[in-house]
Amino acid sequence: MPIYEYRCKRCDHVFEKAMSMKEKSGAKIVCPECSFEDVQQQLFGVNFSGKKTGDGKSSGGCCGDEADCCG
Ligand SMILES: [Zn+2]
Repeated sequence: MPIYEYRCKRCDHVFEKAMSMKEKSGAKIVCPECSFEDVQQQLFGVNFSGKKTGDGKSSGGCCGDEADCCG
């Protein structure tokens, strides 16, 4: 099932929602933070379950070449 990423236009909260194409076409997406109904789909955020995107090098808590700061 595809996971769609949305960003709330009011509070900028970014959230993901997993639903089928069919569900998506009739779904009313609201922000889980503020219940605002005007959210924008982040097209680049679409991915499929089982795959990870953007699992980058910078998300591990390390700071690049400075190995010392990783503890
Ligand atoms: Zn919001």
